[in-house]
Amino acid sequence: MTKPTTNSVGTPIASDAHSQSVGANGAIALTDHYLVEKLAHFNRERVPERVVHAKGGGAYGTFVTTHDVSQYTRAALFQPGVETELLARFSTVAGEQGSPDTWRDPRGFALKFYTSEGNYDLVGNNTPVFFIKDGIKFPDFIRSQKRLPGSHLRDNDMQWDFWTLSPESAHQVTWLMGDRGLPKSWRHMDGFGSHTYQWINAAGERFWVKYHFKTNQGNDFLTQAEADRLAGSDADHHIRDLYGAIEDGDFPSWTLHVQVMPYEDAATYRFNPFDLTKVWPHGDYPLIEVGQMTLNRNPENYFAEIEQAAFSPAHFVPGITGSPDKMLQARIFSYADAQRYRVGVNHAELPVNRARVEVDSYDKEGAMRHGFRSPAAPVYAPNSFGGPAADPVAAGDDRGWESDGELVRAAITLHPEDDDFGQAGTLYREVLDDAARERLVANIVGHVGKTRVPEIRERAIQYWKHVDADLGARVEAGLEPIAEPRTSLASEPVRTPAVF
Ligand code: NDP
Repeated sequence: MTKPTTNSVGTPIASDAHSQSVGANGAIALTDHYLVEKLAHFNRERVPERVVHAKGGGAYGTFVTTHDVSQYTRAALFQPGVETELLARFSTVAGEQGSPDTWRDPRGFALKFYTSEGNYDLVGNNTPVFFIKDGIKFPDFIRSQKRLPGSHLRDNDMQWDFWTLSPESAHQVTWLMGDRGLPKSWRHMDGFGSHTYQWINAAGERFWVKYHFKTNQGNDFLTQAEADRLAGSDADHHIRDLYGAIEDGDFPSWTLHVQVMPYEDAATYRFNPFDLTKVWPHGDYPLIEVGQMTLNRNPENYFAEIEQAAFSPAHFVPGITGSPDKMLQARIFSYADAQRYRVGVNHAELPVNRARVEVDSYDKEGAMRHGFRSPAAPVYAPNSFGGPAADPVAAGDDRGWESDGELVRAAITLHPEDDDFGQAGTLYREVLDDAARERLVANIVGHVGKTRVPEIRERAIQYWKHVDADLGARVEAGLEPIAEPRTSLASEPVRTPAVF
């Protein structure tokens, strides 16, 4: 026999088809509390979408440390042979929920390791660098990539205006306009911690590290034309690909490598090693293999396990901590704050976010709290009743970094090669082959070609000339004159969709 449907408190309900009304054709009665509950709950099904990285998907898996890096970190998850359960979430950055997976954009590469020392979140991207290096610019940057306040259209003038007025963006924009700005699938892209982090070994020695997850499926990409077609025919192409591969038992995997910089090198390195717009050339700091990440289990419920997954770069474990990277420091505040707003102050209690070890926090109460300690347990520290006590050594909080000086607002300009364009030029000249350079030029021309403010167009040409004179000249030569120039972001949009 079919079980009766119940309301949210377990009482059988009479109908999911007919509201109570005064006669068959009459007014609906407010006493139909089930109707009220059903509509009211439906109205509340959405939580605020992430202001960035709204569109994404993910899966569970494992990380196995296959190589011995204990000389660099005492983190339990990176000790030889240790296997750790994890959750990965991939995403685009600027698009809203429901936007196409194949828009050109960096991809989020967020990992939550459920370690024996609590959760470790590594919240990275599929790019080793970023557009800016100071978090105070982040809201402006994102607004320039999202939508105009009036027409609600995305706008190339706004994007190029911000990028060209923020020349530190050049490396990331070069990367984005290249093949890897449109990965074939999430399985076919690398992942990077991007920031410089600090590792600390059992003896308390400190190292600076960068994380590189190299795809074992091989890097592969979509052409702009393929991505445009997929945006219309299968907006969820990347979610579908990952889900399907895991359903088929074709588990994607990545090999984690790190670059390790001795602590003392940072002061004298040729550029600031905490600058998020720069990579450390492999020739200076080679890749050191650490282990394998494999994704092998799909979520059973997208909302509970992916939408409510709350990642935060503030979640370190002993043996791993932050660095003087200003973007990292801003994110350490911002992500945890976003999760409190989006999911709630007790988001860490949800199954997907819950640590797999005992949580001995003095946090209590707050919206939707359901976990609590024994009535005898003290709710304050210090106390005389056997409550947990903070331990800086167990916390791995015993090492930081030196920092002194006046409180100022200044760019990081302490090293001889702290320029904006050098590494972008290297990528163009030394990494890309002729065909990839050709596609890069075509992608830039296509993108800059939609700008309509003459000054912004001109600045974009100069920006590319600074990256590389040849690249700038090819971009300039490829651009058609602006058909409908404008001076204001409020002026009329071009009516014909650019793709036709
Ligand atoms: P290497 O020759 O040692 O490495 C080149 C790097 O570029 C490899 O990581 C390679 O990834 C990556 N790459 C290849 N094709 C592309 C592409 N179309 N878009 C983006 N990256 C690509 O050089 P260096 O370490 O001296 O760095 C030179 C330049 O390479 C840098 O200025 C930077 O732009 C780029 N780069 C460097 C990285 C680093 O961490 N050092 C990481 C990624 C890019 P793969 O091996 O997977 O093919």
